[in-house]
Amino acid sequence: MSSERLAGKTALITGASRGIGRSIAEAYAAEGASVFLTATTLEGLEGVTSAVSEHGVELETVACDVTELDALDNLFQSAVEWRGGVDILVNNAGIYIGKPFTRYSMAEFDQLMKVNVYAVFRLMQLGLEHMQQRGGGKIVNIASTAGKWESPNQAAYNTSKHAVVGMTRCAALENGPHGINVNAICPGMVETDMVQNFAVHAERQGITLDELKQQSYARIPLGRFLEPDEIAHLAVYLGSSESDGMTGQTLTISGGMRMG
Ligand code: NDP
Repeated sequence: MSSERLAGKTALITGASRGIGRSIAEAYAAEGASVFLTATTLEGLEGVTSAVSEHGVELETVACDVTELDALDNLFQSAVEWRGGVDILVNNAGIYIGKPFTRYSMAEFDQLMKVNVYAVFRLMQLGLEHMQQRGGGKIVNIASTAGKWESPNQAAYNTSKHAVVGMTRCAALENGPHGINVNAICPGMVETDMVQNFAVHAERQGITLDELKQQSYARIPLGRFLEPDEIAHLAVYLGSSESDGMTGQTLTISGGMRMG
């Protein structure tokens, strides 16, 4: 039976079609939140739509490429108008490109920045302005362990996630007096489509993706990649009143791969 920890709340969740974002959408709905979900296509959101519908909560889906900054303004405005306000903003949409530092093209660097940094920054601006006027709210950014520590062959991705950590802390600092909590989740390795991108690292080492994963498990105390719903549990906590005393934090959840 649901504990309804998010009853009466409206959440805007980006990247809700798959992986971590979809799990967060389902977990929020299970806790009673009305969810406004977005990804690049409406077709991509069909799976999460039927899963969320089972919880009997209000649901809206909108297609939006987060790299189109003007579209973000419209997206956020639509979310506000939908149920009269946004209580929780979850910035989850993200992409991964991994390669040695000197091999990144500037176009790849640019693409990573557009999705992982610019879109998050702009949505945070819109969310903060809105929540300042309402006298409070919650922002949950999905960063990464790559946002807090060095990591090989992913310098541009790592840079983008360090930026998310930076903007999380600065926004928390400035907006605490407005009753706005801003926190980030820093997952380690999570079993989603994104992991398929690690095939390029395996190829470079002349091994299969499965073999690369086995090597990775050996560096994780819990010996496995996490499941998306394990990240969603933390996102529920950060979206709920249980975390009212927490802001500016970057919560690592990595099976012990990183500690601190
Ligand atoms: P997935 O690749 O499974 O899903 C990515 C999501 O982001 C999809 O919903 C996708 O939408 C959306 N998205 C990507 N580009 C855009 C865009 N231009 N406009 C709008 N939406 C977009 O990734 P994960 O679930 O694994 O990752 C979610 C977040 O977690 C990311 O920020 C990622 O960096 C972070 N993370 C993931 C880790 C992992 O090991 N998986 C580890 C640490 C952090 P669509 O389906 O329409 O393409």
